[in-house]
Amino acid sequence: MQALLLDQQDGKTLASVKAVEETMLPQAEVTVDIDWSSLNYKDALAITGKGKIIREFPMVPGIDFAGVVRDSADARFTPGQQVLLTGWGVGENHWGGLAETARVKGDWLVPLPEGLTGRQAMIIGTAGFTAMLCVMALEDAAVRPESGEVLVTGASGGVGSTAVALLHHLGYEVVAVSGRESTHDYLKSLGASRILGRDEFAESRPLEKQLWAGAVDTVGDKVLAKVLAQTNYGGCVAACGLAGGFALPTTVMPFILRNVRLQGVDSVMTPAPRRLEAWQRLVRDLPASFYQQSATEITLDQAPNFAEAIINNRAQGRTLVKIR
Ligand code: NDP
Repeated sequence: MQALLLDQQDGKTLASVKAVEETMLPQAEVTVDIDWSSLNYKDALAITGKGKIIREFPMVPGIDFAGVVRDSADARFTPGQQVLLTGWGVGENHWGGLAETARVKGDWLVPLPEGLTGRQAMIIGTAGFTAMLCVMALEDAAVRPESGEVLVTGASGGVGSTAVALLHHLGYEVVAVSGRESTHDYLKSLGASRILGRDEFAESRPLEKQLWAGAVDTVGDKVLAKVLAQTNYGGCVAACGLAGGFALPTTVMPFILRNVRLQGVDSVMTPAPRRLEAWQRLVRDLPASFYQQSATEITLDQAPNFAEAIINNRAQGRTLVKIR
């Protein structure tokens, strides 16, 4: 099989597409022939070696994939069945989706939801799935379209783009935060009503004028601190990312004086029922136009270059990898 293989030499990560014996695949119940994978921020950290994502080499990266079951020792899955996978440490500590074949646990697989192709599933990918979980977190916190404007940070990235499109489709007034002028037309086409510059979020006071009923934050650090200081009484911020850093220079003021909820969102270990619900919601709530607007399709050979682009904030929307 062809695979993107990561190795380490003198502390540096080397990434190259190679022919690999399938006997090297890890032991697990279900073998999947992969059609589509994608590049997420975490994949970019792993492939470029910019983040300590991978501890054991050689490793096949790719934290998500869609494909067809070849054989299965798990009665829930049958040969020919279409499946998708996101998370569970696949592509981090278990060989992942940037290869023609993967062998994984049945518990990690989701049957491809009706109404979705494998290609669409990977245009959504881990990033889009996480955006849906963030939107569901806002709904759980009773943030409704009539509650007021909602903010999305890191808006032109994979999670951000999907969050903007979903929230707009659900009737929310969406304000996008982006560090790039070049993405403004794109963000408007996804449904952002206005766009704020990232530089406006550099400094904040413990409490500022209340502006947002809710927010999806993919950036962390100072940006998240400012978002919290500007969140309305009783509002909720769904925090899922660290594209701007993992620190959080904030105070308790938004929590104790404004009843603000900071809701963490993790997609890796999401339990199966919530997973299935999120995928059903994506089929229903993500507009068909999103798949054209937000996807850049690449080949496996191009993955290392595009991983660099993601790390250097030169990518927009979702990067889809055609495997076969
Ligand atoms: P992308 O690279 O596609 O998007 C990240 C966006 O963040 C960029 O497009 C950019 O948006 C903004 N950004 C980039 N660099 C900086 C910076 N230095 N400071 C501030 N903003 C920056 O990544 P994804 O959308 O795939 O992931 C976003 C974040 O969410 C990542 O940190 C990722 O690890 C995390 N994540 C977490 C998951 C979870 O389970 N909790 C699952 C998936 C992702 P713009 O140019 O518009 O400003």
